[in-house]
Amino acid sequence: MRKNATGLSRKRIEVLKGFTAAFLILIFIPALSVAESGTRISYTLDATQPHTHLFRICLTVHEAKTPYIEFAMPAWIPGYNRSRNFARNVQDVEARDAAGCKLALVKLDHQTWRVAKGQNHTVKLSYKVYANNLHDINIAAHIDETHAFFNGAAVFMYVAGATDETASLKIVKPEEWRIATGLEETSEANTYIAESYDHLIDCPTEIGDFTRYDFIVEGKNHHLVFYGLADFDASFLIEDFEKIIRTCARIFGGLPYKHYTFIYHLTSRERRSGVEHGNSTAIIFNKQDFLARRKYDEFISVSAHEFFHLWNIKRIKPEGWGPFDYTRVPQTKSHWFTEGVTSYYTSLILARSGVWDEKMFLRDMAEKIQEFENKPGKKKMSLEEASWDVVLRSDNRRDTTISYYVKGALVAFMLDCEVRKKSKGQKSLDDVLRFLFDNYARNDRAYRNPELLRIINTVSGSDFSGFYASYISGKEGIPYQEFLQTLGLKLRIEEDKPLPYMGIETERTIGGGLRVSYVRPGSPAYDSGIDAGDVLLALNKRRITFTNWSDLLGQYAPGASICITLFHRDRLLEKKLILGGKRNVHYEIHEMESASLPQRRMRRSLLWKK
Ligand SMILES: [Zn+2]
Repeated sequence: MRKNATGLSRKRIEVLKGFTAAFLILIFIPALSVAESGTRISYTLDATQPHTHLFRICLTVHEAKTPYIEFAMPAWIPGYNRSRNFARNVQDVEARDAAGCKLALVKLDHQTWRVAKGQNHTVKLSYKVYANNLHDINIAAHIDETHAFFNGAAVFMYVAGATDETASLKIVKPEEWRIATGLEETSEANTYIAESYDHLIDCPTEIGDFTRYDFIVEGKNHHLVFYGLADFDASFLIEDFEKIIRTCARIFGGLPYKHYTFIYHLTSRERRSGVEHGNSTAIIFNKQDFLARRKYDEFISVSAHEFFHLWNIKRIKPEGWGPFDYTRVPQTKSHWFTEGVTSYYTSLILARSGVWDEKMFLRDMAEKIQEFENKPGKKKMSLEEASWDVVLRSDNRRDTTISYYVKGALVAFMLDCEVRKKSKGQKSLDDVLRFLFDNYARNDRAYRNPELLRIINTVSGSDFSGFYASYISGKEGIPYQEFLQTLGLKLRIEEDKPLPYMGIETERTIGGGLRVSYVRPGSPAYDSGIDAGDVLLALNKRRITFTNWSDLLGQYAPGASICITLFHRDRLLEKKLILGGKRNVHYEIHEMESASLPQRRMRRSLLWKK
């Protein structure tokens, strides 16, 4: 949680001392000017030459007290736990004093510039940032003649040792463009105030001729902002967003922000992607088939996910997640909680709010079971290990790692079942989250990893150390049925008849041939020495093409001996192997025929059904 829940600057809070009630803050106090706020650090972002893909930034430090000031670009970005080295896109760095005289400037390392203060106490650092990354826009910045967008980490340097100070931001833009941001406006045009550097870069900003829908939930303003070909009437979305927001507010007892902005970039990128912020989110979504049912489920699901994060990680946060050290990505064993619990709640709040029905919730959980159970790495890595090593991304991670989103969501679901069972329906994972919000987030306190187990034990009144050791610190298989029966649910596992199986995935070569793109460890192809990159030419001397491959292989039964002729780089080889048999396994979650009244009641309580 940031320093105060309403997003007002500390100075402004001070002005209000002696007054009572947030009512006054929201209704009667006009926005301050930058001068009134007493801000020592000010930024100007110039977006008036969009065709150059360059933002021009001026960062001014008034009343500089030390002989040197160090300015730095973040090496990473909260919400994306990998190194980004934003300094790579910085150019034309220059420092001057208030009189316009150049100041000596030295680059100390990849991200830091040191400026020697001049005769007066003002240092103005100017630089440009090349911003032409539409593909990963929500973890970067982009400016062209259609719009400008920035995630603050990609454009704003911080003043070393002063990241806790308030800062102002003035945006200079083409006149016809508008601004959408989570930052607080001042009384000056296009000028905003942030209570710290963390806050400044936690407010992604869209500038342009976007489509915007506004609505109010629980007295708070909410905005949906669309960049791209949003040539549809999205007003029907508002009803679903209202339901989601109200559901979250009911879990936590209110909305801890003054206003919230959803920023969407509708692009040609296939995979959706979202980044959470304290009172906003920036989401990339494919513009094609946006409103088809399955795509809409994804759209509403990623929106709910990022929204739920405003509690779980932005305010209920693990150690290291604020105040931030921007020189390196912090490590935590708790991403299973920050992301896994959020993924579980994504589905749960959609079901509780009525955007999804119960069937969709259970189908979503069953799909997660299917995904996790098919992972080659499911027994190789625990949730805590996956959390701790997230930055490593080994080259064969597909075979050796797990997703803390997927397993984390499943473990959160099972944990919720078990807390409800052990407390006889008196407590749930909602209470664990509320405990963390009330006792940690409201006091701006991060939790340490070992505290999570203690909190779960305290809230539930039971000992969860065995559960924790098996499924969170450990790698044991999850006995889903054992937990699901608490809710009167049954996991149905159906297997198709076995199909001939080599254990490879393939892709088309330019000439219409077949190249191996992946070999599953332990499969017949793996044991025979077939490798990713091999081009398969013949099966038992019959030519293989991309088109005929599945028919050709389908002629053989599991257990048949086959010979594959292939090119391994420039070497022609023959590989003999015995085909395995692979059954496709389908997981479904249903109500138990013998579900008792208490079990049904427990499920109704989970889904907030009457
Ligand atoms: Zn997330």
